[in-house]
Amino acid sequence: MAVVCPECDTPIPVDPEEVEEGETVQCDECGLELEVVSIDPLELAPIDDIGYDDEDDPHVVEEDEE
Ligand SMILES: [Zn+2]
Repeated sequence: MAVVCPECDTPIPVDPEEVEEGETVQCDECGLELEVVSIDPLELAPIDDIGYDDEDDPHVVEEDEE
């Protein structure tokens, strides 16, 4: 089974029995990351939201500073 990359139209092979919801797969062609949002039916959503990465997120920093 494969899904088509929304970015470059390259088929990305995805085995529903080898992935879980919340897992991510990456397009070999353009590097776009897709999150598995549903297994049955198989549904993937591109992860392209700014700030969604596992990098430092300045938005959640709380400082006790007046
Ligand atoms: Zn792609």
